[in-house]
Amino acid sequence: YEAKRARNRYVVYTDELDSSLAHRREVETALREALDSGEGLDCHYQPLVSASDGRVTGMEALARWHHPELGAVPPVQFIAVAEETGLIRRLGEWVLRTACSRLAPFDGLFVAVNVSAVQLRDDRFADTVFDVLASSGMPAGRLELEITETAIVNADAATVRLLKRLRRAGVRISLDDFGTGYSSLTLLKDLDVDKVKIDRSFVQMAPMADDSAAIVRAVSNLGAALGLSVVAEGVETEQQRVFLRDAGCDELQGYLFSEAVPEEGIARVLDRLPVREAVHSEE
Ligand code: C2E
Ligand code: MG
Ligand code: MG
Ligand code: MG
Repeated sequence: YEAKRARNRYVVYTDELDSSLAHRREVETALREALDSGEGLDCHYQPLVSASDGRVTGMEALARWHHPELGAVPPVQFIAVAEETGLIRRLGEWVLRTACSRLAPFDGLFVAVNVSAVQLRDDRFADTVFDVLASSGMPAGRLELEITETAIVNADAATVRLLKRLRRAGVRISLDDFGTGYSSLTLLKDLDVDKVKIDRSFVQMAPMADDSAAIVRAVSNLGAALGLSVVAEGVETEQQRVFLRDAGCDELQGYLFSEAVPEEGIARVLDRLPVREAVHSEE
C-alpha cells in the first residue's frame, strides 16, 4: 500500500475520495432506512451534576446508531451526514420526542437535547417543540436546547426570533462547545441564552495549562456577570472537578460522573449519584 501511495499519490487520493463519497451515500441510505423503521436508533443519557454538591440536575440526550453492517456509527459521523442531507430534522425530532417522553416522569430533572443549525433554519421547529412538550407531558421549563456556539454565531434574524419565541415559552437555551466558536459578548446578551457549556478541550487542559485555566475562569466570571449558568463538559478527573468547582462553574458533566447510558441505565445512575430531593419517577 505504501509503495502504491508513493508511486501514484493522485490515484490513491481519488480512490479515497470516491470511497468516502460512496461511504457517505451508504450512510445516508442506511440512516434514512433507520428513521423509517426506527430500527438501530437509540437515545443515551448522560447526567449533569451540580458542581457544589454533586447532585444530578439533568440529563443530556445523545443519539446512538447501530447498523447491522456498518456497526456502531460514531455520532459525529452520522450527525454530519444527517446535517448535509437534511435528515437531521427527522433525527432531531425523534431524539427530542424520545428524550422528553422518557424523562418526563423524573420531576426534578431537566432534559437537554442537542439541536443542529439546520433545524433552527426551519421556522416550524418551535411548533415541533411545543407539540413534543404537549404530547410527552414535559414542562417547557424542564427542557434545554443545546446549540453549538458556531450555529449561534451564524444565526440569522429568523433564527434569533425563533429562539426568543422558545425562551418566552420557558424553554432554556444552552450554548454547547463554548470557546470553539467566536461569539461576541453582545450576542450572548442579545440572545438571552441561559447556559454556556465550556468545551471539553479547555476543561481537560485547565488544571495543567495556564491559558486554558484562564479561559475557564474568564467564562465562569462572564457567566456570573451576565447571569448565565456555566457548565464544564468532559470532566474526567478528580483534579479537574476540584479546579472547575473552585473556578465557579455551576454544573459539571463527564466520564468522572457517568458516560451516556441507555434508558435502562438511568435508574442505576440515579441510584449511584446523589439526586435532588424533588426527583422521583412516577413509573
Ligand atoms: P456534545 O453535545 O458536545 O456532547 C458531548 C460529547 O462528549 C458526547 O459524545 C459525549 O459522549 C462525550 N463526552 C461526555 N463526557 C465526556 C468525557 O468526560 N470525556 C470525553 N472524551 N468525552 C465525553 P457523542 O455522544 O459521541 O456526541 C458527539 C457530538 O455529536 C455531540 O457533542 C453533539 O454535537 C452531536 N450529537 C449527539 N447526539 C446528537 C443529536 O441528537 N442531535 C444533534 N444535533 N447532535 C448530536
Ligand atoms: Mg451537547
Ligand atoms: Mg459539547
Ligand atoms: Mg455511551
